[in-house]
Amino acid sequence: MALRLVHFNNTIGRHVAPKTVERVAEARLPTETGEFRIMGFRSLISAEEFVVLVKGELSADRPSPVRIHSQCMTGDVFGSIRCDCGRQLDAAMKLIEKEGHGAIVYQQQEGRGIGIINKIRAYALQDQGADTIEANERLGFEADMRCYEQCAEILLELGLRAVRVMSDNPAKIRALRQAGLEVVERVRLEIEPHDFFAGYLKTKKEKMGHMCSVA
Ligand SMILES: [Zn+2]
Repeated sequence: MALRLVHFNNTIGRHVAPKTVERVAEARLPTETGEFRIMGFRSLISAEEFVVLVKGELSADRPSPVRIHSQCMTGDVFGSIRCDCGRQLDAAMKLIEKEGHGAIVYQQQEGRGIGIINKIRAYALQDQGADTIEANERLGFEADMRCYEQCAEILLELGLRAVRVMSDNPAKIRALRQAGLEVVERVRLEIEPHDFFAGYLKTKKEKMGHMCSVA
């Protein structure tokens, strides 16, 4: 008997992926930068949790500035200058505040997914001369273990269909496009350069394809 493959026509014209995240909490968050809403999302397929900052009305008709920010405790909380994460987060919040609308998905995958303790171990190796990629690999991890599909899903869940991305990371931009979001612009965040993290940015550009400008 010949195997007959039946193809269904998708009359909606758009693949609807199963939902893998849900919004579980929401509150006001007044900050030094301005007034935001903070939301908690939970993954339905893992133990991962996401924190989202939202400003203004988000709609399918207006491309809002968005950022997928990967948690960096050292940079975001302590103002570390080993990397530019804290400055990027700050600049993204300021831009959203200025424009009056936008969202930041704060993804809690510390140290490109290896966790804070291993990140400190990686810093120790960097103190001995390894770059950020070599350090991760020497600890037995891939250079980057993060994935962004659910962050993109959260932006869709918030009602966005087109976005202006605040990121230098091509993997993040790819994830947004693959999820069906239209990336209408890549917004450059103005980050004051610092000698200490110039080497880190150079590694990200040369080894991970990031689009940041390196002096
Ligand atoms: Zn960082």
